[in-house]
Amino acid sequence: MIMSTIAHKLQAVDATIHAASKAAGRDPASVRLLAVSKTFPAAAVLEASAAGQHAFGENYLQEALDKIAAVAAALPGVAPEWHFIGPIQSNKTRPIAASFAWVHTVERLKIAQRLSEQRPAGMAPLNVCIQVNISGEASKSGATPDELPELARQVALLPNLALRGLMAIPEPDTDMARQRAAFARLRALLEQLRAGGLALDTLSMGMSADLAAAIAEGATIVRVGSAIFGSREYD
Ligand SMILES: *Cc1c(COP(=O)(O)O)cnc(C)c1O
Repeated sequence: MIMSTIAHKLQAVDATIHAASKAAGRDPASVRLLAVSKTFPAAAVLEASAAGQHAFGENYLQEALDKIAAVAAALPGVAPEWHFIGPIQSNKTRPIAASFAWVHTVERLKIAQRLSEQRPAGMAPLNVCIQVNISGEASKSGATPDELPELARQVALLPNLALRGLMAIPEPDTDMARQRAAFARLRALLEQLRAGGLALDTLSMGMSADLAAAIAEGATIVRVGSAIFGSREYD
């Protein structure tokens, strides 16, 4: 059987997830792979989908909407699960609420309220993660650990959202111990929220360069782009 490059790379990423899970004493099935297809064409998504990949992440809304439509037209009946993982402008919440199954980048209550209000009737609640800034000054994105407990409490009350957990993009670091330390901070924040009574099951953390460290610290969704689709020409 001739395999596409994307199919090969997916297999290699699966092997990494498997090995990192085993090393951490975890069931590999407890880690979901989100294939980040931003900047790549619908054809790349179709190729990954043919290789068995189900969930795809996108950062740029217009690009995502075009791709979602193109993939739906090419694969009637086999709809992938789309996750929005980019920064959210408040005037763009309506199409996000209508076209995605998950949003990983909620960092303000106002955005969460709009997503809940604008989730179309008849659709399942929108799964959301709160993005947390675990790198301090080095990052502008995400709620601060201080504001997280109250924000999570409020988001969890919104009727058309299902608050699933936390997401972070730590500062890039090539040292595995430091990668793990950052992910451990997100895990500790999730555990605090759970101890406070919120039923959360998701840690969205780990990308191509640090997925093994993320899995060692409890990632349940790893968001992997370049290791599957190749390097991006813009970002
Ligand atoms: C681009 C992106 C990824 C994937 O990054 P790679 O290094 O290509 O694996 C994951 N998460 C977010 C939020 C991204 O923007």
